[in-house]
Amino acid sequence: MSRLPVVAIVGRPNVGKSTLFNALTRTRDALVADIPGVTRDRIYGRATLGEQPAILIDTGGLEEAADEVMAGAQQQTRLAVEEADVVIFVTDARAGVTPDDLEISRWLRSCDKPLYLAVNKTDGLSEAQAMADASELGFESMTLMAASHRRGVERLAREVAEGLPAHEPEAPAAEGSIQLALIGRPNAGKSTLLNRLVGEERALATPIAGTTRDPIHADVERDGLKLHLVDTAGIRRRRGSHEGIERFSTIKALQAIEQAQVVVLLVDASDGVTEQDARLAGHVIDAGRALIVVLNKWDSISEDERHKVLVAMAERMNFASFAPVVTTSALHGSGLGELTDAIDHVFKAANQDLSTPALTRTLRKAVEAHAPAGSKRGTPKLRYAHSGGTFPTRIVIHGNRTAHVQEQYRRYLINCLRRQFDLTGIPVRLIFKDSD
Ligand code: GDP
Ligand code: GDP
Repeated sequence: MSRLPVVAIVGRPNVGKSTLFNALTRTRDALVADIPGVTRDRIYGRATLGEQPAILIDTGGLEEAADEVMAGAQQQTRLAVEEADVVIFVTDARAGVTPDDLEISRWLRSCDKPLYLAVNKTDGLSEAQAMADASELGFESMTLMAASHRRGVERLAREVAEGLPAHEPEAPAAEGSIQLALIGRPNAGKSTLLNRLVGEERALATPIAGTTRDPIHADVERDGLKLHLVDTAGIRRRRGSHEGIERFSTIKALQAIEQAQVVVLLVDASDGVTEQDARLAGHVIDAGRALIVVLNKWDSISEDERHKVLVAMAERMNFASFAPVVTTSALHGSGLGELTDAIDHVFKAANQDLSTPALTRTLRKAVEAHAPAGSKRGTPKLRYAHSGGTFPTRIVIHGNRTAHVQEQYRRYLINCLRRQFDLTGIPVRLIFKDSD
């Protein structure tokens, strides 16, 4: 098993870290970028560098979000760099090398992580001059770029990818077993639910002598379903250690999502639906995993509050309205039957056989009911559709002038497909291909 590598973007304020973060995370493959209303995470993102998937952290965003009370917001950056496999150090060619740049580079060198220098804002500057200026930092190599113009970004991505530990996709779970991740904010009830699912004795078993690592996976059979719980160590290990919980839980969640087919997002209903919950849902959709939202601690709130939580769900997570919602009390064990039913359901929905004739029939019906609008430059013609893979569920639609298909129409098609094939809980990605 291998986890997604983590890449931290570090540098002074204003050098272009978030611009680079956006350029690397908003790729064509990112589903979230296409979904209106989704709460994007501006700090953590999933990127494909070259061919390699990775988790990206914008440490500038971390510092902005850091609690003022914290002993120096830089603490957040330190933690992020500690967690990272690779660091991209960004400087501003227009400002030249500043004393802060020198200090940051000294500190980064002491961290002993693979380091990449990205000299940004080189647009309109002499490259030779920019390179000569930056050489003061003493790096063997550097990438000149203009992030806001997307220049040099791909080159940087490819170079960084070469230095990443190889990411081996998870070996498929045992036949018929569902790879499941439990994610959610700290305190949402993940470990309580995990214990419920696994069975108290096994979850509380003491680690084998001589090992400090918790088991990472747990295989469970429940209500006839075989579940392979991924990354449970991330859930258990933090018990007792409170430092940095908020921060690292996002990285752990992203890594768990990546290894899963079905993701159960636990929301602490007694807290309402928070922005962080919505961001986590965004990450699941981005990765194309099946999503189930669990409103946990249902026992602890009144009828009135329950109503409010459901309304908040519909508003804050309207972009994830295709996901089934289950209410549970992990503490008392209620709602678990509904949860396993939902897991079974979305897993089957994602793995159903979407045949070319059935998809094409649905496409044609949708087009007959409602043809795609044309523009001056042409009217799209959609001819046939076939399946292009699962997790994320991809549906390839062939036609002509498909570049003119509008966002609203794309969503209409997804809704038609969703209804026809009952794609509950499944993020759907349409890929258009022109035959001419
Ligand atoms: P951060 O504080 O390091 O995250 O910096 P930002 O990404 O917020 O960028 C700071 C400013 O620099 C913004 O106004 C960006 O538009 C601008 N900027 C970023 N990249 C470039 C670039 O390649 N060229 C130029 N000219 N400006 C850029
Ligand atoms: P985690 O940080 O997401 O793993 O959360 P925990 O499982 O450690 O739970 C945090 C706290 O919430 C603990 O005190 C649990 O006993 C409590 N808790 C978990 N699930 C429920 C629930 O369904 N109802 C109530 N009332 N409390 C719960």
